[in-house]
Amino acid sequence: MSELLTLSEYRDLAGDLNLPVQAYINGQFVPALSGNTMSTVNPATGAEIAQIAACNQDDVNVAVANAKATFEAGEWADMHPSERKKIMLKFADLISQNSRELAVMESLESGKPIRECELTDLPETIHCIEWHAEAADKMYDQLSPSGNDAVGLIVREPLGVVACVLPWNFPLMMVAWKLGPALATGNSVVIKPAEQTSMTTLRLAELALEAGIPAGVMNVLPGYGHEAGQALGLHDDVQVVSFTGSTEIGRKFLEFSAQSNLKKIVLECGGKNPSVVLADADNLESAAQHIVYAALWNMGQNCTANSRVIVHKDVKAELTAKILQAMEEWQTGDPLDPANALGAIVSREQYDQICHYISKGKAEGATVLAGGEPVVIGDGLFVAPTLFDDVTPDMTIAREEIFGPVFAIITADSDEQALAIANDTCYGLQASLYTSSGVNAQRYARKLQAGTVSVNCYAEGDISTPFGGYKLSGFGGRDNSLQAHDQYTETKTIWLDLSE
Ligand code: NAD
Repeated sequence: MSELLTLSEYRDLAGDLNLPVQAYINGQFVPALSGNTMSTVNPATGAEIAQIAACNQDDVNVAVANAKATFEAGEWADMHPSERKKIMLKFADLISQNSRELAVMESLESGKPIRECELTDLPETIHCIEWHAEAADKMYDQLSPSGNDAVGLIVREPLGVVACVLPWNFPLMMVAWKLGPALATGNSVVIKPAEQTSMTTLRLAELALEAGIPAGVMNVLPGYGHEAGQALGLHDDVQVVSFTGSTEIGRKFLEFSAQSNLKKIVLECGGKNPSVVLADADNLESAAQHIVYAALWNMGQNCTANSRVIVHKDVKAELTAKILQAMEEWQTGDPLDPANALGAIVSREQYDQICHYISKGKAEGATVLAGGEPVVIGDGLFVAPTLFDDVTPDMTIAREEIFGPVFAIITADSDEQALAIANDTCYGLQASLYTSSGVNAQRYARKLQAGTVSVNCYAEGDISTPFGGYKLSGFGGRDNSLQAHDQYTETKTIWLDLSE
């Protein structure tokens, strides 16, 4: 990525964007069959950006039929894996060539800071597609230990039509997490982006075709969840739904599967992730930097946001002072201004929910140490980074996912109590642990009930490590790493009798 531009340069680029507003089916932009559209709004200004096709069951039927026919024709599914790799690498290269335009589009629609789009979301999206492309021709099948009278081949095959139903918080990265392994294993894909953020996914589909991915392999259906999303969940020719979003909607996909063809369902859902600071944590300066990043990154609209800081009483005062100091570096404002680390909240609904939780925290007796108010910038949706103290584990802000720049300090009398509080949640996506002891690092990392535990830092691992949740945070599989390929493949045994 080249140097960041200035605010006025980004504004000029935003004004010149060619906006994709129609569905993308079988290699073509098409309106929704109903002619219906929905508004996509810039949350930093309140202004409408465009009207986007709002697809429903009829469009889903067309897209799935095309994806199925494309899969069965075998142009992509039966292509030599090394050829699929080359085409996917070209796709990654085209994303890279168009990354500035994609970054601006992503920022406009989601309210994410342009700095983040340019320096994190785009590079990680590109790297993800490249990583799975490179894996395409390096995956081996297995031979069973069945003796000399038989050969048992255990092979993985693509599933056919894969549906991806996505959230708005990391539009491009979430597409890449699903698309990379689904394409590398030879499937055809129908994507339903979140209704707030459809445009960058639509643009990706165009680049996929340009790279040589055959028409019908990547389809994008913008639309509402209860229409396009539900129709995908219930469709008998969809073999798997890979979903990222709330636990509430994730559950619905399990019901849709039971009501239809028992399609595989993989869910990446919410979290109420803890930063656990033990009594022996000695680098509190570093811990505070990571804790603040973990809480505020992407305005806290992050499934692994660390919204609970569970700290041993002996180090609490010093840590709290350092957290407050670290928060000062997180400036809120126009997402297109590269100086800002925090942009707008994605939608009015999400903004209202965050304000509701802030009020709830105050009403239940927590103390506001920082923020606690909206930031008024024109008609935009901005919330000040907010830190609560004196939070008890039973308070609403300690139990429910807020999905905003709001976090809470909970004081523990002992390390064991800190661990118990950390695990006392229905979620289990990620946890961060701070300690100076190697032994404690191992012991507590094992005991924390989360799909990812990072030690002395906030992290989700990287593309090479599996990502997913325990308890209500996940179901049915993992994103990232080679384990992600399991979501999009079926196991077949081929048995050859050699005994004659
Ligand atoms: P959401 O569950 O409201 O929506 C996710 C997707 O489901 C959207 O595309 C939406 O249109 C669709 N949908 C909504 N109602 C539907 C219905 N009735 N039938 C079918 N589809 C429907 O989630 P969101 O608000 O977009 O995203 C925030 C949530 O996502 C948070 O809970 C967050 O923790 C979670 N998330 C999880 C991860 C992860 O990897 N674990 C990553 C990012 C976000």
